[in-house]
This record gives sequence, C-alpha cells and structure tokens, in this order.
Amino acid sequence: MVEKKEGMLEFIRSDLAALTAYTPHPGGTGGKPAAPVAEILDRLDTNESPYDLPDDLKQKLAWAYQQELENNRYPDGGHTALRWAISEYVNESAGLPPGAFTPKNISVGNGSDELIRSLLIATCLKGEGSILVANPTFSMYTILAQSLAVPVVSVGRSSTTFETNLVEAQSAIEQTQNPPIRVVFVVHPNSPTGNPLTEAELNWLRSLPANVLVVVDEAYFEFSQNTLLADALQRPNWVILRTFSKAFRLATHRVGYAIAHPELVVALEKVRLPYNLPGFSQTAARFALAHRNLLLSMVPGLLAERNRMFQALQQHPALEVWASSTNFLYLRLRAEYPPERGDLGQVCQELKQMGTLVRYVSHGLRITIGTPEENQRTLMRLQTVLASKFSS
Ligand SMILES: *Cc1c(COP(=O)(O)O)cnc(C)c1O
Repeated sequence: MVEKKEGMLEFIRSDLAALTAYTPHPGGTGGKPAAPVAEILDRLDTNESPYDLPDDLKQKLAWAYQQELENNRYPDGGHTALRWAISEYVNESAGLPPGAFTPKNISVGNGSDELIRSLLIATCLKGEGSILVANPTFSMYTILAQSLAVPVVSVGRSSTTFETNLVEAQSAIEQTQNPPIRVVFVVHPNSPTGNPLTEAELNWLRSLPANVLVVVDEAYFEFSQNTLLADALQRPNWVILRTFSKAFRLATHRVGYAIAHPELVVALEKVRLPYNLPGFSQTAARFALAHRNLLLSMVPGLLAERNRMFQALQQHPALEVWASSTNFLYLRLRAEYPPERGDLGQVCQELKQMGTLVRYVSHGLRITIGTPEENQRTLMRLQTVLASKFSS
C-alpha cells in the first residue's frame, strides 16, 4: 500500500488540517519518556477524584451488571430512570422544592463534552452563530466549536482576579456580526483558575438579551456548593451543565447532564445520537445518585487538603497561588522571575519525569488535589524542581 502523508486524503475537510486532536495528558502517560518515569504516577492533571468507588459499591455495581444488564439489547435511549433521579438530585442540590425541575428539564450526554457539542449544533451551526469565551477557561468549548467550524470570539480576564473583562465582552456581544454571538460559555467556578463568577459577571450575564444562550458549566458544583440553578429556573436562555466525572467519581463512565428550559432540551434531544449513553453508564450514574451521601463524603477531606496545599504553596517565594473554590489549584511564577530562568512549562515536564502529572496552561500550573500522599509528593517534587531553577 502506498504510504499516505498527512494532507493527501483530499476528502477530509480542509479546515481540519489546522486543528489538533485533544490530548488529555500532553506527552502521554505512557510511551517513552525523556528520562525514566518514576514508578508511581500521580495523575493530578485532569481534576478527577483520586478515590475510586468503595469496594462494596463496586461489588453491587458488578452484581447489577451480571443480573440486570442485557448486553444484547440497546440501552434506554431516553434515559428515563436516570433523568428522574437527576432531576430529584438537582432540586435537592439547589434547595429547590421537589418538582421545580422535572425530567423534561434534563438532557443526558456522554460526558458534558457531548452536551457542549450538542449545544453548539443546536444553536450555531449553518453559520448562524459564534460563541464567546473568556480565556483562560475550559479548552473544550473552543476545540469543539472549531471542529464544527463555529467561530470563537475570546475576551480576556483580569490577570489578578481572573474576572472576565466585561467591557470587552459587552462590546463583543454588540459588535460581532456574520454570525453574531449566540452562546456565552462560562465555568462556575472557572477552570483552570478556580474562581467563581463575581456579582459583576453575574449581573452582566443576566443582562444579556434573550437571543443569546448563557451556558453555565457547573462541573465543580459539588466542591463549590455554589449554583445558579435558581437563575436557570427563571431564564429560558440559561442552561446549567453538570457532570459525574469529578466529585461523583465516575469519570470512566462518561455521564454529564444539562438542566434547561424544556424547549432547549427538546432541541438537544434532536441533535444527539440515539443511544449516546451505554446501559452500564446509566446504571452507574443512578447508583452514584442513590449513594450520593457516601460518594460525596470525600469532598470535605479534599477541600481540607486543597486548603493545606494552598497554604504550603503560598509559602514559596517564586509562586503566586490563587484561592480556589474547587478541587484544584492554579499558580504562576511571580513577575520578578524572568523567563530566562525557565518557565512553568519546563517545571511541568520535569514533574512528569519524576512521576507527577499536572497541567500547564496559560503560563501557569493547574494542580488537581489528590490523596494526602499524592499531594505531599507533589509538594516535595515541586520544591525540588523550583529550587533547581529559581532559588534566589
Ligand atoms: C471536567 C470538566 C467537564 C466534564 O466533562 P465530562 O465530559 O462530563 O467528563 C466539563 N466542564 C469543565 C469545565 C470541566 O472541567
């Protein structure tokens, strides 16, 4: 067979050549590292919980797999039981009365990533809309928009508080044409920076016209306990995204959900794949909800570890660390450390060679809170690497 160089297959959409596939662990977690990687790999780069399901829950889930799951049958494409359970949890989580949100307000996706894509398809495709993001933020909005050829308008944030530059954002809304901005994506609290939306940002979002969809990504709600569901109840142009991938400890099962006006839910259901969520994933998510108190009981300990890490990292003279409402911390080098001495991208690489994965983003490091042992190792390794580069 003739070897094909990239770019030779003429049937591939030409604009895809400029895109690269998403890599959760840039450089990989396996393969051949530059130096031998330490035995223990601390994966602190994707913000999952460090805790797998407890053994007895895993056993119950395995039992459900053996006794209930029909491997030969398609799963419930309407996610009926799961949507009921989610709507109940959603109301409880926001202190809303039972029935405030119902299954008609819920759409379930193969991770909230799928819902982000469905939202783009349902709003912006065919040249009908652009999206607005404030960087740095969750990269998937831009990646998915680009893969659908949806234009992305990005505005900046304060370099001290990471609040969105609202002057820029408002002028983008007013001036973007062909196509106009149809969707604004915000994360609450933001990733990678860990800050919740401020009153000013909230007021601005509330002031947006009804023909602009506001997507509030609450992937970290179970850590922040800060939700805008009450707004979504009042505003048909708001949608809240949540996920089972973080505090609920189910990242492998790929379950996310949207809470929205029923008409938007109908639109999302039209554009998704019919059997988007495997039966076992639906079972696992229902399990997680049924045992939510047990699963979420790890949250306070993770938050205490986050606070401990925050205190410890703040002691380092080279680092600026931001307070976080989530299960990760964001830090940058202080301005007085000039780039000639190295940057955090190199620190990230060296940590990897020592066996700790963290994420390098926008000149900073985002470090997921792991188990106390992982956190301690990370502190030690970070201190070692920084000492070699930045000690006075
Ligand atoms: C982790 C994360 C998600 C979750 O994505 P899933 O596809 O549900 O795993 C969504 N949004 C943000 C901001 C995240 O950090």
